[in-house]
Amino acid sequence: MGTLTMKFGGSSIGTVAALTQVLSIVLHERKHWDNLLIVTSALDGVTDMLLEAAHLAQVSNHRGYRRIAATLRTRHLSLIEQLPLGTVERNTLQADIDRLLFDMLNLCQEVAEYPSERLSPEVTDMIAGVGERLSARIIAALLRENNLKGVAIDATDVIITDNVHGNANPDLEQTRIRIQQHMSPMLERDIIPVVTGFIASSREGKMTTLGRGGSDYSASILSLCINAEEVWVWSDVDGMMSSDPREVPDARVIQQLSYNEIAELAYFGARILHSRMIKPLREHRIPLHIKNVYKPQQDGTKIHDVISEQLHEIKAVTAIHGLAVTADRSGPATKVIDIVNEALLNAIGIEADVMITSQSSSSTFICFVVPTSAGIEAVDTVRKAVAKKLKRLQDHVDWQVDPVSIVTAIGEQIYAYPSVAASILEKLDGVHILDIAQGPSHCSLSVIIKPQDAEQVVHSIHSLITNSDADSDPTPTE
Ligand code: ASP
Ligand code: MG
Repeated sequence: MGTLTMKFGGSSIGTVAALTQVLSIVLHERKHWDNLLIVTSALDGVTDMLLEAAHLAQVSNHRGYRRIAATLRTRHLSLIEQLPLGTVERNTLQADIDRLLFDMLNLCQEVAEYPSERLSPEVTDMIAGVGERLSARIIAALLRENNLKGVAIDATDVIITDNVHGNANPDLEQTRIRIQQHMSPMLERDIIPVVTGFIASSREGKMTTLGRGGSDYSASILSLCINAEEVWVWSDVDGMMSSDPREVPDARVIQQLSYNEIAELAYFGARILHSRMIKPLREHRIPLHIKNVYKPQQDGTKIHDVISEQLHEIKAVTAIHGLAVTADRSGPATKVIDIVNEALLNAIGIEADVMITSQSSSSTFICFVVPTSAGIEAVDTVRKAVAKKLKRLQDHVDWQVDPVSIVTAIGEQIYAYPSVAASILEKLDGVHILDIAQGPSHCSLSVIIKPQDAEQVVHSIHSLITNSDADSDPTPTE
């Protein structure tokens, strides 16, 4: 039945119990598919530690990065100690772990000895990518120990990107050629490649990374180039949830989503998937499943083409942070957008997304998304930086910068069903709405509100999802 790509996230490989699940999943799926392709993240938290080590090296904190290397070594060694591995596999793995961490230490040492003003993104990528190179070797060894032909592959050999270090973009043509050369013959020989997620190589042969959470993207790039039938992303959650379960206790697993819906969900704050992974899958109609490694028999969430009978449903509601820049005056907003862009780039290394701009004869309102990945403190840092810059702007306008929340309801074509939009707005009774936006994808409706109202608004919109079974079908507009 063709090729299945399975990507295992950090939380699904970090312990012996998790790896035992991984093994039994691979043993099971092998019977159902012609070929399996595995993509792996680093163990939970490892990439964060590696990046921390790079920063400590940058400030010449030798003790700090050495301590991290030692912790990583202990963690990986104790994991393989507990795994049912033969002496040969274990010894080889130990040597691999030591070599990779030794290289990482050398890199840190170089950074610490020749500190420059900014940590080079090239070196950062080389340090950050060590986690996946470690975990891929561990999984491949575990497969071999169980009579499967697992081979660890560094994606630097197969995924080619531009040289935007830290957030590289794949060159699909080159990648396809490499994959056909290196990986297709392996699949023909029944080998199960265990490919490092997250990392890749620039055309010049330097290691790049695909952005935080990039292993998902690796899985989708590889699947595209090898013509995989399906992609399954394994983690320790049951699937995509209708809202953040930490905030909405009755959030439930969404059984099916369209590509549009999942893209909106990823954009508007669901942290479970890398937002760029969807486009290639959508273009090639490769279905994506999100499954819990501890409950493999459950379906999880399936993402595929539009499901016609579910067109009018609200599937999920999310909340993310943003900044609103307002003025009691109408005028060109491009300068303001440039300023916010610069502030975001300086503070968190990410360009701003203008969520909405609206102007009337006497006022201007611009709302920016502050990516969730930037962390909660980023909102305040960026707000201060933007306010300071706008004050210096000699345009005689009194700009105000405030934190806001962007609450988004997501559902394929909800725009075509006015009664759905109306039911959402009804739930906002008494809430001060700063602005409303309908996403260009036509499957989301966002309201911009004050942060203190977000929790209540998410809850009340979510009640529309929980109650939807009882509702009758709304009528679409022509
Ligand atoms: N290990 C990388 C990260 O933590 C990539 C991934 O997990 O998908 O960002
Ligand atoms: Mg992830």
